[in-house]
Amino acid sequence: MTMIGLEIHCQLTNLQSKLFCSCKANYREFEINENICPICMGLPGSLPRLNKEAVKKATIIAMALNCSTPEKIAFFRKNYFYPDLPKNFQITQLNIYGDTSVGGSGSIMIGDKKIRITRIQLEEDPGRLIYEGSSSKNQITLVDYNRAGTPLVEIVTEPDFETPKEVRDFLNILSDILENLGVADPSLEGAMRADANVSIKGGKKVEIKNIGSFHDLEKAVHFEITRQESLSSRDIPIMQETRHWDDRRKITVSSRSKEEELDYRYFLEGDIPWVKIDPQIQQQLKLEMPESISSKKERYVSKYNIPAQVADVLSSDKFYSDLFEKSHTEKTAKEIANIITTDLMGLVDTREKRESSKLTATHLKELAESIQSGQISRNSSKNALYEIVKTGKELSVIISELDLGNVSDASELTDIIKQIISEESQAVEQAKSNPQTINYLVGKVMQKTKGKADPTLTLNLLKKEIGIQ
Ligand SMILES: [Zn+2]
Repeated sequence: MTMIGLEIHCQLTNLQSKLFCSCKANYREFEINENICPICMGLPGSLPRLNKEAVKKATIIAMALNCSTPEKIAFFRKNYFYPDLPKNFQITQLNIYGDTSVGGSGSIMIGDKKIRITRIQLEEDPGRLIYEGSSSKNQITLVDYNRAGTPLVEIVTEPDFETPKEVRDFLNILSDILENLGVADPSLEGAMRADANVSIKGGKKVEIKNIGSFHDLEKAVHFEITRQESLSSRDIPIMQETRHWDDRRKITVSSRSKEEELDYRYFLEGDIPWVKIDPQIQQQLKLEMPESISSKKERYVSKYNIPAQVADVLSSDKFYSDLFEKSHTEKTAKEIANIITTDLMGLVDTREKRESSKLTATHLKELAESIQSGQISRNSSKNALYEIVKTGKELSVIISELDLGNVSDASELTDIIKQIISEESQAVEQAKSNPQTINYLVGKVMQKTKGKADPTLTLNLLKKEIGIQ
């Protein structure tokens, strides 16, 4: 039996400041070593000050993942020497005096399967090493401390996964949940990283460290299972070790540094007192939590009669569900859900396209109303949406500029219908004896008007001109 467990590091990217100082949490917008201060650099005499918002956000994550949340939390020093760690210790959490990390024993469902969460802890991210030089001879390592001290949440699971696909599904669900909670933007580079430990047939555990993309993690786990199975089939013992994912060669390689054998000499961080989280505050946080993805989905189906599959796609993505929430009315909900999932998702399928899109909730609302009132056809609405995303112009302007409006003027439509009748005399005779075949003529009118004729009006006028009921 294959057992896989995960440790996932998620940056709390929506916070203003670092975990223990007032440097910016968004280190990405700075020049190298510009976002630093004596506290995050661990200079003598500096003292950490805990970011209250970070504790709140981490607690919200714990609650959303069905974890228990203790009334008192503590911080510990994890000691090791590494150039990206300016203090030579990382301030993190540990559960040696009972549950003192922000969350314990939770779970997430992937389909029918329950994945148990061991604990959730709040900690600081180290800095970043930058390697320069083409060969090992002239390679130099530079350090950028802008990221040092930014808030991370580590989510540790029990070894409940049995396949690489379960791992991937779990990470997708987790990333949707974090985004929906408004605590992080998982699509940012480096915002979610994971370690995986893999063992087969109850054998030794192999840890794969620090993988930055879900796609690579799935591949790394897959590779590791195959490697261990191959060793086992040849009676070669599997070593307990740490391995790294070689992205270029798509294999895991044994890591020379035996990190797990290091003694981290954990001890309580004396510069940060135990933090009491009042049950009342916990209650308040629960009330302020955004509606969960599953509850949204249920509401979309039951209240607006949106098909379950569409509701599923719509609710799990915060960008689209926010747009939906801001634009829909009781009457247009289904139409808007349809526009978003069938047309919009294809138009803004990358982060860059979403950011440059000029579409607003008002646009969507007007587009849905125009389709429902017959002012524009479903078909032409696709072209209008494309123009809106690109230019942000008002819908009415786009309709007149691109001549997308429906032909709903009866006399204009009658002229076109008369023309079709004269061209299609055989089909007209057929329609007289078999009214079902009139759809062929409706199709001809649609063709002539480039899909802009109102279908019901067309059918009625056609019947009248041919003289059938
Ligand atoms: Zn700082």
